[in-house]
Amino acid sequence: MLHVGINGFGTIGKRVADAVRVQPDMTVAGVSKRSPNFEATIAHDRGYDLYAAGDDGRVPFDAAGLDTAGTVHDLVEVSDVVVDTTPGGVGATNASLYEEHDTPAIFQGGEDPDVADVSFVARANYDDAVGADSARVVSCNTTGLSRLFAPLEESYGIEKARITLVRRGGDPGQTSRGPINDTLPDPVEIPSHHGPDVQTVFPDLDIDTMGMKVPTTQMHTHSVNVTLESTPSAEAVRDLLGRESRLFLIPETLGIDGAGKLKEYTRDAGRPRGDVWENCIWAESVTVEDNDLYLFQAIHQEADVVPENIDAVRALSERTASARQSIDRTNDALGVGRGLVEHEGNAPRSTADD
Ligand code: NAD
Repeated sequence: MLHVGINGFGTIGKRVADAVRVQPDMTVAGVSKRSPNFEATIAHDRGYDLYAAGDDGRVPFDAAGLDTAGTVHDLVEVSDVVVDTTPGGVGATNASLYEEHDTPAIFQGGEDPDVADVSFVARANYDDAVGADSARVVSCNTTGLSRLFAPLEESYGIEKARITLVRRGGDPGQTSRGPINDTLPDPVEIPSHHGPDVQTVFPDLDIDTMGMKVPTTQMHTHSVNVTLESTPSAEAVRDLLGRESRLFLIPETLGIDGAGKLKEYTRDAGRPRGDVWENCIWAESVTVEDNDLYLFQAIHQEADVVPENIDAVRALSERTASARQSIDRTNDALGVGRGLVEHEGNAPRSTADD
């Protein structure tokens, strides 16, 4: 059983902890927080050992009546692997702590790529992280793009990718984020940081990305144009993508016209927090003109990196033989693909090397 510590129990950290908890080969060693806010009480209610990460140590938790098992140093000590889910930039300041304890660590997409030995997306480069000391699970957008590019590159070759990312202004809990009533080119420079980030996973990929921000907390939406090296039919592309376990092709019959209905659908399907772990591709948007592929996909920013973190834990700890094994195990335990109507191209569901 792998003991996994989660340092930073916010939007991503609490989801990773709950995902670790349901894996047959992992257990939550504990979670750390800086302050005894509502998420600390949730950690407590879930039965996770709580460790204090703030400058004042356990004092604020004692004052709030919340038991702690120690400080973040103690958490790293009792963990086989640490998943660092602190805010962007903070993870890098924790790297020396993990090195001191000789504990493998997983960082998130808010860190610079050089924080870790490898930038990681299970479907694209699992093997690069096997036995590494550290990995960086790339951002939600980069994860969503890499999952799409992996099968396209393998089956057809990619000449050039051009993506416009319409990005949610903030997460539901981020009351300080915006815009409130505007649409922003963000960043206004081209390419946006997303293209270079995808190149940390696909170093040879020719990709341009443009980013915008809009006033929603639901999901990101990508407008995708990929010039392929061959000319498959749209039907063949739909079948290819439909066989990927972390891509969901939204059947036209569901009447899902946007992120709002997608989130409603997954809440109705009983997903925890309404989380959407899969890329959601509108099946009827998949279009091929000569060798240009076009499609729209939606990415749930709070959720798609969660199964990737679980696979990264297995890769670093060298406990699983292959990407395929890890992805299948993660999917089964978490319920990836479960509760969603199958598109005709979705069966049988298969993963890495099909
Ligand atoms: P968050 O602010 O929701 O959660 C971070 C948590 O870490 C908070 O509970 C905060 O109190 C705690 N924290 C702050 N400093 C700490 C420290 N020194 N030690 C321990 N805990 C500390 O942030 P998030 O949205 O979960 O983002 C975490 C990482 O995941 C970032 O790198 C981010 O870029 C990345 N990420 C976020 C999203 C998203 O949409 N939220 C998607 C993909 C990746």
